[in-house]
Amino acid sequence: MDFPFCAGSQLSGRGDKVRGGLIVASNREPYSHRKTGRGLKLEIPTGGLVSALDMVLRVTGGTWVAWGSGNGDREGTDADSRVWVPPLNPSYRLRRVWLSPESVKNHYHGFCNLFLWPLFHGEPDRILYRKPFWGHYERVNRAFVDAILAEGNEDSTIWIHDYHLCLAPSMVRAASPERTIAHFWHVPWPDWELFCAAPQSEALLTGLLGNDLIGFQIPLYACNFMASAAACLGAAIDYKAMTVTWQGRITQVRSFPISTDFHSFDSLATASATEIRVRRLRSKHRLPKLVGLAVDRLDYTKGIIERLQVLERFFHSNHSFRGTFTFIQIAVMTRNGAPYRAYRQEVEALVERINARFGTADWRPIVYSTTQLDQEELAAYYRLADIAVITPLCDGMNLVAKEYVAAKTDGEGVLILGRRAGAAAELDGALLVDPTDRDAFVATLRRALTMSRVEKRERMAQMRQQVRQHTIYGWVGNILDELALIPQMKGGGRDALQHGEEIAARLAGRGLLLCLDFDGTLAPIVECPERAEMPDDVRAQLIALQGRHPIAILSGRSLADVRARTGLPGLIYGGNHGAEMGGYTAGTGSLADDRLLLEEFLVDAERAFAQVPGVLIEDKGVTASIHFRRVAPAQRETFLVAFQPLARQYAGRLRITEGRKVIEIFPQTAGDKGAALQQLMAEVGSGMVPVYLGDDISDEDAFRAIRKCGISVSVGGSPAAEFYLRNQGEVARFLSLLAHSANGRNFQVTGHDTKEAESI
Ligand code: UDP
Repeated sequence: MDFPFCAGSQLSGRGDKVRGGLIVASNREPYSHRKTGRGLKLEIPTGGLVSALDMVLRVTGGTWVAWGSGNGDREGTDADSRVWVPPLNPSYRLRRVWLSPESVKNHYHGFCNLFLWPLFHGEPDRILYRKPFWGHYERVNRAFVDAILAEGNEDSTIWIHDYHLCLAPSMVRAASPERTIAHFWHVPWPDWELFCAAPQSEALLTGLLGNDLIGFQIPLYACNFMASAAACLGAAIDYKAMTVTWQGRITQVRSFPISTDFHSFDSLATASATEIRVRRLRSKHRLPKLVGLAVDRLDYTKGIIERLQVLERFFHSNHSFRGTFTFIQIAVMTRNGAPYRAYRQEVEALVERINARFGTADWRPIVYSTTQLDQEELAAYYRLADIAVITPLCDGMNLVAKEYVAAKTDGEGVLILGRRAGAAAELDGALLVDPTDRDAFVATLRRALTMSRVEKRERMAQMRQQVRQHTIYGWVGNILDELALIPQMKGGGRDALQHGEEIAARLAGRGLLLCLDFDGTLAPIVECPERAEMPDDVRAQLIALQGRHPIAILSGRSLADVRARTGLPGLIYGGNHGAEMGGYTAGTGSLADDRLLLEEFLVDAERAFAQVPGVLIEDKGVTASIHFRRVAPAQRETFLVAFQPLARQYAGRLRITEGRKVIEIFPQTAGDKGAALQQLMAEVGSGMVPVYLGDDISDEDAFRAIRKCGISVSVGGSPAAEFYLRNQGEVARFLSLLAHSANGRNFQVTGHDTKEAESI
């Protein structure tokens, strides 16, 4: 499926704060090359993990390190094992790791599939451990770490995935102690008793505790992990702060429930092509009135056999549903090896038995298919299914359950969900079952098939609301936000919303001078800067504070632009990062000389970037900005190559700094936000406590200026600030906290912008 337009805009700016660029590492690769009679073919594997992470990197750029498992992968990469992807819109680099057949056998098929998979899914009887597994597991983790360390730079943030790479975090940490390293754990984490009894449990935990942050699907798995670290290693656990402290290092533990692209399934479900598909499926399978559905990978954790056994019992004891209800089981084979082949045989034998026992000349109880479907085809199946029976024995989340809900636009479906699927902790309107309790499961099937229309609609509406509000983009955004905060947290930075009482105490009896940045702080970052606007809740809070406290907006935009965009009279405005405070206030230089130099630079810049699509050069009168947000990631190196001679040519004459996807050009004499804030403190806020909120690198001058005397709050994380807010969405809450905690006076703006402000 093509990259949905909305994904880019929903994540706008949220990956920018991940310092040094992003390196993702996972066992599976997002694109693999296969040799065919007609040359190399690029294939896109399906699955929740791959499509979600591909989407992240298409937005943020960076590198994905993964096992090169395709038979044409070596031919498809350069001499450094790299290839730009996706081919039609190169956005990030795929760095392939090569594994020997012995390692594939012992690491992937052995330690990962035969040992870790059943361990983490709570299937102790299926666990198989062989001596060579462990040596190859270590070797493969080392190979990944070598590739990770060769990519990006010292500051790159590393985001590792799943159980194949448990040792990598501490290996990277040993080589690069200050790195930001995070892990997302896609599968469940079992009870500590089961985990701690397993071979290598201490080594696995020690490896994982090299992370700064570990994310789990649901709080239960996060708690199981923490309990395992305490029981197995004796690590110190703080359940309130959600941290594990081990050998002097702190690892944050969080839950981030993964989700689906609600709008994509919602709109696919109502597309006319889907309607045609639904009609075709009905006639191809000669489907009766009622249809049930399950979509799984062919895996014993998915409870396919237990489900079929229940269906057999159901048809045996519910005669009236024979001929009127058909169940479609889609079971896609994604793994080979003995347990999977045996499982498939057992599933297929059971399907045959049920169909032979109850089927008639014109009705089949079970329609069974092993063909892998794309999203369009899946949407048709979801749409036609009256009930979905998603009953894994144990599952990290289960995206199929959420996709079914997203596709049920008519509200007429019922979802039966296994209690031990992560999704059961989230989808309140589902009917929950224990897949091994056959009698109760049969009764639940009957209940689902006879449920009143009103109850169906109520339950589905509740679930649709949940999935609509928590999409895959929210999942990605929340993790990127958390990654960006790690450097500040490691330096002792604290959550501003959690420390409201302390902030109120520091403001008590002093008066508040409130200064704020605009883009990314008062207004969310958007792809086109000219579309940025302040949300209503932020505006309402500023109005509540205005008049009681002096408020200044210090922006990188020109003064006229930020004033018009904020649109509130009675505030103090500063443009050009504080170099334009209601008039030119730059230090000692001559305005005319500075302007001439800037114009000379702008002419050279136009020439230098003429061949780099997406560069936007903005002349703001006093300073200039070179925006590269819209330069395709594959072109970023060309951009830098074009920029470097320019930077050298003007070194010493202009001040050049980097912001988030922007390069700022200042005359040497122009002030910065720190200087502007100090000036405001002297002129309008004498004796008051300055509070500064900002999200960008240019705000760090202001954070540093008030480090000893004020309250600095970064939006999205900055090591230079004392407090943080997770994202722009938290700004209104913080302003409300200030409005309630700072004793206001009747403040009138007397200097600076008063005249201009009155004219708004
Ligand atoms: N899927 C697919 N085609 C199929 C079967 C499944 O694209 O024929 C997708 C499905 O839409 C879902 C993913 O594979 O997004 C399976 O994710 P889930 O969390 O349900 O299970 P997992 O495979 O990760 O254990």
